[in-house]
Amino acid sequence: MKKYFLLLILLGIGIGFLSFKNQDLPALTEFADRIFTNGKVITVDSLNTIAEAIAIKNGKILAIGTTKEINRYKNAKTEVVDLKGKVVVPGFIDGHSHFMSLQRSKIVDLSAPPVGIVKSIADIVTELQKFKEKNKLNDGDWITGFGYDQDQLLEKRHPVKEDLDAAFPNNPVVITHVSGHMLVANSAALRESGIDSTTKNPPGGMIVRKPGTNEPAGLLQEHASGLLKRKSSGPKPTLDEQINDIKDQELFYASNGITTAQEGYTGYDAVKLFEAAAEKKQLFIDIVSLPGYPTIDKLLTDTVFQFGKYRNGLKLEGFKLVADGSPQGKTAFFSEPYLTPVPGCDGTDCRGIPTVTQEQFNDAILKGFKNHVQTFVHCNGDSTVGMYIKAVDNANKVLNTTSLGRRSVIIHSQFVRDDQLDGYKRLGMVPSFFTNHTFFWGDVHVRNLGVKRAYFASPTKSALKKGIIFTNHTDYGVTPLNQLFTIWSAVNRLSRTDQVIGPDQRLTPIEALRAITINGAYQYFEEKTKGSIEKGKLADLVILSDDITTINPLKIKEVQVLQTIKEGKTIYTR
Ligand SMILES: [Zn+2]
Repeated sequence: MKKYFLLLILLGIGIGFLSFKNQDLPALTEFADRIFTNGKVITVDSLNTIAEAIAIKNGKILAIGTTKEINRYKNAKTEVVDLKGKVVVPGFIDGHSHFMSLQRSKIVDLSAPPVGIVKSIADIVTELQKFKEKNKLNDGDWITGFGYDQDQLLEKRHPVKEDLDAAFPNNPVVITHVSGHMLVANSAALRESGIDSTTKNPPGGMIVRKPGTNEPAGLLQEHASGLLKRKSSGPKPTLDEQINDIKDQELFYASNGITTAQEGYTGYDAVKLFEAAAEKKQLFIDIVSLPGYPTIDKLLTDTVFQFGKYRNGLKLEGFKLVADGSPQGKTAFFSEPYLTPVPGCDGTDCRGIPTVTQEQFNDAILKGFKNHVQTFVHCNGDSTVGMYIKAVDNANKVLNTTSLGRRSVIIHSQFVRDDQLDGYKRLGMVPSFFTNHTFFWGDVHVRNLGVKRAYFASPTKSALKKGIIFTNHTDYGVTPLNQLFTIWSAVNRLSRTDQVIGPDQRLTPIEALRAITINGAYQYFEEKTKGSIEKGKLADLVILSDDITTINPLKIKEVQVLQTIKEGKTIYTR
C-alpha cells in the first residue's frame, strides 16, 4: 500500500512536471518565416541581453534565444540563415542626416582627405575645370561645388572670388563650405545675382567684404547665401527619374545599415516628391522627413500625411528650424568669443551669427506645441542652445503645459554647457549629438574655442550620467554616412592628429550603439516598435563583419555592414 502511494506521488510529480514543461513550450501553431541561428545577437534591450538566434514572422520578431530554442520555430517553409558566429544588431536609426543630398553627379566634390582629394585652392579650381570639361558646359552655365574646408586647405583661408575668376570669367561658380552654412561665389555669380557693394546684409546673414571696402569678397554666410539667384541648366527630371534617385539613395542608406533615415530639412517640393514616392509604394526603408519651418503652415493644411504617423514608409515627424551656423565656419553662436579671427567680424567680440531672434524662436516652438508637431532645431553654440531652452520654457508658460513627453530635439547640440544639460533634463529635451566632429574638426575647435569648450563638444558621457536620452548622427553630406565611423568617433573621440578630444566624454561601444538604435527610436516616438531586438518589434536588423563590443576600439570604423534586413526582408547584401 505504501509502495503504491509512493508510486502515485511520483507519477503525480511526473505529470505535474510534464504539464509544466508543456506550458513552457511555445504554442507551435506559430512558425517562423525566417530564422537566424548560431550568431551573437546584441539586442540592446534594457538589460543589453546577448542572444544567439532570432525567429521572424510577418516582418516582426517572433522570438529570440539560443539556437536550440529558436530551431523549434522551424517548419518546412522556414528559411534558415546560419550566421556562423556573425554579430547582429538592430537596424540603425539615423539621428540626423540629409537624405536628399542627392544628385552628387551634378555637383563637384571639393572634400578634403580622407573623404575627397582637395588640399589647396588650386585643387578646387582643377576639380571645377575637370567637371566643366567632362560635362561639356558652355559659357554662362552655372557650376556648383560642395565640401571645401578652409582649415584643410594649404592656404588656411576661404577662397575669394578672384581665386575662381581667373579660370571662370564667364561661368557663375558657387562653392559651398563643408558645413553647408556658407559659400563662395565668383564675380560672374555675384553679378548675375545683383550682389554688389550696395547690397545690405540680410537678417541672420553676412556678406563678407574686401578689407576696408564694401565690395563683396565672395564669401556669403548663413542667410546671405539666399541672395544668390542660381539657374539650373538642362531639362527638369521626370517624376519617375526623381523617384529612381530616391530608390538609389535608399539603397545607399541601407548599405550603411540604416533602416530608418532622416531627411533633415525638406523643402515643400521635396515633401511632395516623397509623398508621391510613398503613394507609389517605392519606399523600402522608413523615411522620417523634417519639413523646413517656413513650409509648415502650408503643409498643415494640404498634406494627407498626418504629422507623426507613417504612411507607406514616410513620416512627416516635425519641423526643422536652423537657429545658428557652424562652429568650424565660425558662425555658431556662442556666449564667449572665438579665439581666432572671424571672417566678416572686425571687433574682438566675435561670437557667431544667430539666424533667428528670440521672438521668432518663441513663435516657432509655440506653433509646434499648439499643432502637436515635434520641433527639431539646429543649435551648435551655447547661446543658441540657451535660446531654445528659453523658447520651450516660454511655450510651457503660455500654454500652461509641460514639455515633458514632447521630446523637443536639439540637432547637433555640440557646444551645450553642463548647466544647460540640466535644462534639457528638466524640459524632456533630446539632444542629437555629432561626435564625428571630434575627428573632422576636433583640432580646429581646440584652436578656435580653447581646450575647455572643445573637449566638452557633444558631451555624451555627461548627458548619460544625467539620465538624458540622446542620439548621435553624421549630418550626411557634411560627414560620411558610415554608422560604424560614428560609433568609432563616439568611443575614441580621436582627432585628425590623434588627439583625444574630451577623454571624459568617451562612450563604451554598447553605449555608442544604443545612441543610434534604441535612442534613435525614442527620438521619433518609435521605441515600442523599433530600436532593439525584442519580441514583437519590427525585424529591422544589421549583420556586421565583427563584434564592435570585443574588437580593438580603434578598429570599429573598419567593421562592415554585411547585410541589412528591413521588416524581415534582406534589402542589402554586401
Ligand atoms: Zn544638418
